[in-house]
Amino acid sequence: MSAPGARLARFVAPASIAVVGASEEGMYPAGIFKSLLGCGYRGRLYPVNPKRTELFGQPCYAGLAALPQTPDLVIVIVPRQAVLGVVDEAERMGVPAAVIISAGFAESDDEGKRLEAALRRRLQTSRMAVIGPNCAGFASLANAVIATRLPAPARSGAVGFVSASGALMMALQGLFADAELGLSHLVSLGNQIDVSLTEVIEFLVDDAQTQVIGAFVEGLDDGTRFARAAARARAAGKPLVVLKSGRTQAGQAAAATHTAALATSQRVFEAVCRQAGVILVDDIGELTATLHACAAWQTRMPAGRRVALVTQSGGMGSLAADWTSAEGLELPPLPAALQAQLAAAPALKGVPALGNPADVRGAGTLGQVAADLLGHVLADDAFDAALLLLAKSAVAPRELATAQALAQLAATAAKPFALVWVGQRLPHAASDSGEPQQILAAANIPTFTQPKDALRTLARLAAWQECTPPAAAEPPAVAAAPAAAESPVAAGVEPGARRMLAHGEVAQLLARAGITLIAAQEAADAEAAATAAQRLGLPVVLKGISARHSHKSDAGLVRVGLATADAVRDVAQHWLADPALGVTGLLVQRMAPPGVELLLGVENDPQFGPLLVAGPGGVLVELLNQTALRPAPVSAAEARSMLAETAAARLLAGVRGAPAADAGALVELMGSLGRLAAATPALRSLDINPVIVHPQGLSIVDVRVEWQEER
Ligand code: ADP
Ligand code: MG
Repeated sequence: MSAPGARLARFVAPASIAVVGASEEGMYPAGIFKSLLGCGYRGRLYPVNPKRTELFGQPCYAGLAALPQTPDLVIVIVPRQAVLGVVDEAERMGVPAAVIISAGFAESDDEGKRLEAALRRRLQTSRMAVIGPNCAGFASLANAVIATRLPAPARSGAVGFVSASGALMMALQGLFADAELGLSHLVSLGNQIDVSLTEVIEFLVDDAQTQVIGAFVEGLDDGTRFARAAARARAAGKPLVVLKSGRTQAGQAAAATHTAALATSQRVFEAVCRQAGVILVDDIGELTATLHACAAWQTRMPAGRRVALVTQSGGMGSLAADWTSAEGLELPPLPAALQAQLAAAPALKGVPALGNPADVRGAGTLGQVAADLLGHVLADDAFDAALLLLAKSAVAPRELATAQALAQLAATAAKPFALVWVGQRLPHAASDSGEPQQILAAANIPTFTQPKDALRTLARLAAWQECTPPAAAEPPAVAAAPAAAESPVAAGVEPGARRMLAHGEVAQLLARAGITLIAAQEAADAEAAATAAQRLGLPVVLKGISARHSHKSDAGLVRVGLATADAVRDVAQHWLADPALGVTGLLVQRMAPPGVELLLGVENDPQFGPLLVAGPGGVLVELLNQTALRPAPVSAAEARSMLAETAAARLLAGVRGAPAADAGALVELMGSLGRLAAATPALRSLDINPVIVHPQGLSIVDVRVEWQEER
């Protein structure tokens, strides 16, 4: 079997290309053909347009059939009504790949939706790989193929980028060029009727020219495949930096109409990304800066979170120090030996003893001196990365000298460093040419205009470095669905119907995963409840089962600490006699000892499959809305990091004199529950609220399960 993204190879290295709809005017009809003519493409290039015999000095062909050969790639830039015909012809000729630039499909109107559906139907029985429609094409700088319009000259390099949006891809390319970011492949996808964003990521993970992957995501309809591709990227040591729209309802609506993509809920997406080691960024500026830092530091990513700040100004230093802790980075003190080494520098004569931030004043931050100081700091074992904070100088030669000296340092430094360069370029400065900036960018020195941005980037890359890719690059082995006889669901339930499982069914389902509920017994009437209470051992908890109340305690249907059989009988009689309560059955439970009440749950996401949820539990759950989320199953380490994300970890550690609770037992339960969720597709959602965690062991006292047997 070929690699998952192997089909993309057909696009990026074609030996011949036909551009159907090429013309001497128009952004795409002329633009793409001219790009291909001018980019140094070494294959055969064929313009196709029945109204021309010649185009840009090349012979022009009336149709695909008139070409002297079957092209490796067809680019389609014809009116939307004509697209299906071209695709059909190309497919019958055996063309392996096509890019449909033409727009006016599902993103526009009903007629467009109809045309797109027809295209999809045609492709179902086709072996041709198709990008688009409604896309801006692609560029493969590594292979000298530019089948798009690039606003700026592009440099070949290590960053592969895929974008759901064509216009944004082109805009970003301008920013990438400004940042001197070298690109391997640049792909815009449009409506993704065939080639998906995930497939391109899969290709880039395996592509030798690509070391860093960037993506602009609008929506995903292959969530679990995306998660797997992301985990493969992490395992391959290739950072995957993602900017995703659709975090708000407004954003989701825009995404849905833009490429008719399904937007996924942002929280779920963030959880998936965190697990798979995806670097999520918030906006375009961060995307460019993070990609640049990843490309610059490919071979020397920050190994940890310990940062040295070398600053020209105390103010800038303390501002940066504030952001260091806000971003979860550490600021270790300067080791004494390093202090002595720095104090010996002639430029620092008279400067008081240095700390971290190290305020080296003006003279310490010029030219070679700055590079030397930074070199000493980087060489010290106490730090994983360094930041140099400078104000822009009005004196051009100084800027130039500093840039050149730092460039030399970057060529040999084994650890990452970045420059925070604050201030307006002064109009009279000869360095207005932007030359120092270019030197820094070309030397792979990320440059920022604000301490916060630099530190956030460092923190994100440190987190990437820390992330252990999920061992399972393959989907979790889904245990065979329970055999019919084993199914906890009573016979005769219509498959496909959603329903809440009864207590006995829940107990049976959890037992399969080795999870035990607190001892309990169902009872039909008050007498049976009293007998059950005696059998379980007093005191007990009595619960009224009522379809009307999903939160039993809200309706007064939970009575804890009933100490006698008579008390149980009394309460039960009372409930059953009140028709307003709608009590149809009783549950008698053993009384759990005190402990920390937490919520554990499973949510089966339509995009990403089963997710494990954890957080503080009990009656304030809705109010606090504090839960951590991860794709299931989770490792013990992931379970612990989920607890640390919410107040759960602090509650377990014991607050206000409460004893510490058995976190180990809880982590084990999270592992079992995650495995059960991953192996049980019919499990739509599950709520354990609460699990009561004791100093030793835990009690599961309330579980709700929503079940939907596969049709
Ligand atoms: P609800 O339907 O309202 O969520 P629960 O069964 O979760 O009902 O019970 C509400 C609260 O009662 C729990 O949060 C817990 O504090 C307490 N509780 C319930 N069952 C037990 C039990 N077996 N032992 C001790 N306390 C319990
Ligand atoms: Mg409950």
